[in-house]
Amino acid sequence: MSDYCTSLCGFESCSWNPDSLHHLPVHPLWQSPLTIPGGTRQSPINIQWRDSVYDPFLKPLKISYDPATCLHIWNNGYSFLVEFDDSTDRSIIDGGPLENQYRLKQFHFHWGAINDWGSEHTVDCKFYPAELHLVHWNAVVYPTFEEAVMEGDGLAVIGVFLKLGARHEGLQTLVDALPAVKHKDTVIEFDVFDPSCLMPSCPDYWTYAGSLTTPPLTESVTWIIKKQPIEVDEDQLEAFRMLLFTSDGEEEKRMVDNFRPLQPLMNRTVRSSFQSRHLLNAEEQPKDHAEQMRP
Ligand SMILES: [Zn+2]
Repeated sequence: MSDYCTSLCGFESCSWNPDSLHHLPVHPLWQSPLTIPGGTRQSPINIQWRDSVYDPFLKPLKISYDPATCLHIWNNGYSFLVEFDDSTDRSIIDGGPLENQYRLKQFHFHWGAINDWGSEHTVDCKFYPAELHLVHWNAVVYPTFEEAVMEGDGLAVIGVFLKLGARHEGLQTLVDALPAVKHKDTVIEFDVFDPSCLMPSCPDYWTYAGSLTTPPLTESVTWIIKKQPIEVDEDQLEAFRMLLFTSDGEEEKRMVDNFRPLQPLMNRTVRSSFQSRHLLNAEEQPKDHAEQMRP
């Protein structure tokens, strides 16, 4: 893993501690190679800020969620999924890099055992302690979610980084419900929730063509990664870590480190919806990047 990242970006530009890399945990799902034969657009990736390309034709992302379409929370043994009624176009996104609207199916998170890692994507090799994924499918072109999963333009996933800071009031409603889905395969009703409360205020995003980060790993995802993280507090991350990978009656295994390792960028370009001063001033003002990393 450490050699891999060195080849990606070099440690000089990495903000993580190389020592911690050797201890970066790998979920059992990823301990033996699991690949898509000939895969060329796998996820997650490291987003190298200076290599992303500003695309002035990228539109603002438009989000329109109906809180009443929220159905339930399900511990699936890898994360917890907040699932929505996707039988009609009541909770949708469009704009951004998308050619038509996409319907919200579910959202979930990935997180670490400690705050030093947990996100799937990284920015300039920096991990965040957690990452939110809002999964949408192209119901204009495909009749079912299952069919959309198999197609290159089938899915659109919004990724939002979580950083340690103030308690997130919108997230707390969800956190309060988590003890009821502690064990694998438990489901509870969760009637009304508006996930747009989990969206950062800044409209800036990166976008690239990628894949699901859990099996079947199909290369069907238009990724939209928000530049600005949202803040959550330590107690809220700890509530995630109290969940279990295991069913009731099994030896308890904490649900932590449920992220896929980074995948090679290969022949892909990450586009940004925003102009990067970092790019223009990288040589002259090395401090500029730190400025921009602040929300
Ligand atoms: Zn995910």
